[in-house]
Amino acid sequence: MTTRPCAADVVIVGAGTAGSVLAHRLSAHANTQVLLLEAGDEPQDPRIAQPGQWAMLQNSAIDWAFRTTSQSGLGDRVEECPRGRVIGGSSAINAMGHMRGHPRDFAAWVDSGAAGWDYNDLLPYFRRSETSPFADDALYGGDGPIHLEQPATPHPLSVAHVAAGAALGQPRLRDHNCGTMTGATFNTMTILNGRRQSTADAYLTEQVRQRPNLSIRRNVIVDRLVFDSTGRATGLRLADGEVITAHGAVILAAGAIGSPSILMRSGFGDGRVLRRLGLDVRADMAGIGQNLQDHLLSGGNVYRARQQVPLTSTQHSEAMMYLRAEGQSMDDAPDLVVGVTSVPLVSAGLRDRVPPMALGDAYTLMFGITHPRSRGSMALASADPSAAPVIDPAYLSHPTDRAHFVEALHWARRLGASESYADWRGEELLPAASDLATPDALERFIGLAALTHHHPIGTLRMGDDATAPTATTLEFKGAERVFIADGSVMPSLTTGPVNAAIVAIAEKGSELIAARLHLG
Ligand SMILES: Cc1cc2nc3c(=O)[nH]c(=O)nc-3n(C[C@H](O)[C@H](O)[C@H](O)COP(=O)(O)OP(=O)(O)OC[C@H]3O[C@@H](n4cnc5c(N)ncnc54)[C@H](O)[C@@H]3O)c2cc1C
Repeated sequence: MTTRPCAADVVIVGAGTAGSVLAHRLSAHANTQVLLLEAGDEPQDPRIAQPGQWAMLQNSAIDWAFRTTSQSGLGDRVEECPRGRVIGGSSAINAMGHMRGHPRDFAAWVDSGAAGWDYNDLLPYFRRSETSPFADDALYGGDGPIHLEQPATPHPLSVAHVAAGAALGQPRLRDHNCGTMTGATFNTMTILNGRRQSTADAYLTEQVRQRPNLSIRRNVIVDRLVFDSTGRATGLRLADGEVITAHGAVILAAGAIGSPSILMRSGFGDGRVLRRLGLDVRADMAGIGQNLQDHLLSGGNVYRARQQVPLTSTQHSEAMMYLRAEGQSMDDAPDLVVGVTSVPLVSAGLRDRVPPMALGDAYTLMFGITHPRSRGSMALASADPSAAPVIDPAYLSHPTDRAHFVEALHWARRLGASESYADWRGEELLPAASDLATPDALERFIGLAALTHHHPIGTLRMGDDATAPTATTLEFKGAERVFIADGSVMPSLTTGPVNAAIVAIAEKGSELIAARLHLG
């Protein structure tokens, strides 16, 4: 008989990166009933496990497949905003890069009011989450749930990229998690024996799922929080009207788009907007949905290959190189990135500028920015929980972002033109000489080349100021007994991809929440 638990001590919304960690750690408290709710199903698509197939999962049945509004910084293009809708969430469709971030990224969190979230505060949680190939060094974890690998036989283009960086004076790093990030190295990835290891694979193992105090319900969309007459959250209402009771607390881990959407439907946000959608306002909190940030990459600096490019043995892009922008010191968190991908990646804005190309014909140097100054927002389009929200990252709206993007393009072309790439480099297909002719032409080109690096965060940022929706204890400031623990609470972006930082937030969050709820 199928059981459909409708009450628990702790109810977690979203079985993605953060939700998987939270369910594992909180259900380790054997006297606490934990219920994990997820809109998607168990992973069934065989491509999830195959690292080289990750990009094929976008717009599939396990992708929410959101879209941004028309972005003036991208030549009025609409950009894709994929988010995983499956057990494992976005960690089941991501590109598997594992980069903790630069210590200065977390210092910026503290400077913005998130006391207690410095790199050294998070280091024990990074370590306890990882089984690292460098575990002989105390900086890394040796027995955590997430198994990490660097490519055993790096792709020859990745080798050329690392060599090009070293030839141009960049430090050769052991990996991206050694405390500094500026320099050339191969990516560390969440791949185990050639297969993706999503955060759910790592944390929601068969053994964990057999705990009698952990239940998982799939294919349920959470609509909104429900409250008692004193205003305390008592649980959640699902899209079909069923009510789930939380005796202790609700934890939102539905991601940077999902968690603020649930809060807005619950009556928290910009009061005027909520009223317009027919929602009752519980608290006018204008900060909810603001501060949306996302990394940009590009497709890009594209080269015809002079010999057939072999297929990847991992996920096509194994060597992201982080670089200082003009004026930055070696201690700073680098503002620029250039990676190489073994497929001809061309942004939607530039596809009509290149001839049709098959895999193996060409390769792309993807240049991008790591600390965008642009700030966007997300909002509800409707009170209907199945409706897609309005997502406006305001890409490249800040002049520094555009200047950094141009700098990153110049770095890509220097690396691409270096001797290390000589065996691979044919004609440079993009940019064309006319794209480089004037500052205006360069800005137009970067707007067309830019594409999301898939790291939206920050829409429920934690902080001690009045507009931050989340306290540094991860308690939601608008209602008692509600916690938020996912990418939405990050005050600002880390230098690299964000999954590892979100794991660490959930690891630390599970301890904060357990202490607050006095879990035995
Ligand atoms: C294509 C792609 C490539 C990426 N590549 C990398 C990479 O290489 N390295 C890296 O570090 N990061 C990468 N990222 C980013 C990283 O994977 C995500 O930022 C991270 O997984 C987000 O974690 P989260 O817990 O905040 O949200 P998610 O993992 O997205 O989890 C949220 C969960 O909540 C569920 N949910 C949402 N709303 C509801 C609702 N109303 N009711 C019930 N359930 C709900 C969702 O279905 C989902 O399972 C990538 C992301 C994508 C999409």
